[in-house]
Amino acid sequence: MPEYNRNVLQLLRQPMEDRSVTIVRNEGTYEYPADFMLVAAMNPCPCGYYPDQAKCTCSPQEIRRYQNRASHALLDRIDMKVLVSQVPFDRLREEQPSGESSEAIQRRVVKATEIQWARFAGEGIRFNSQMTGKQIRNYCPLTPDCEEILKNAFYQMNLSARGMHRTLRVARTIADLESCGAILPRHLAEALSYRMMEAAEGGY
Ligand SMILES: [Zn+2]
Repeated sequence: MPEYNRNVLQLLRQPMEDRSVTIVRNEGTYEYPADFMLVAAMNPCPCGYYPDQAKCTCSPQEIRRYQNRASHALLDRIDMKVLVSQVPFDRLREEQPSGESSEAIQRRVVKATEIQWARFAGEGIRFNSQMTGKQIRNYCPLTPDCEEILKNAFYQMNLSARGMHRTLRVARTIADLESCGAILPRHLAEALSYRMMEAAEGGY
């Protein structure tokens, strides 16, 4: 992602938020639908080895400049950010990869999709990601435990209102993937973990 010009990346903000692109020309203003799923990857520094001090050859300024290309405003609009560490050799060579099979995951995803279609019948939307603030209040009721977790995270992680709404949509989806009617503390904690990156200093 940071290989793109910062201005180009900034332009993504509007379509990511509004799911439409507005183009202004002399003849008039045009609006086009732009409902897409953004999947992006970035290295932690230009050489890719930071924070491994033994291998990284970048200066602190180079690292800061590189990470700053993905602005906080842009990262705020990405629902899930995951820090991926190097895979050890033995894991790469495993004959039988551990974890759930793709077929099992697909079944859960299909089920979670059906739950959402049923939930939003008559609402004019199909997915949790499309919920408005009002719909989030209706469909993401929180237990006192969850309310406390969210409140702490709001202050400690310096969450924006947008970040909080996005966290709740993700938590709703994690609960749906377990076919769980209520958002439980573990669902909310997982959703918040995908926001940790921007809470850390310098984006990482
Ligand atoms: Zn480096």
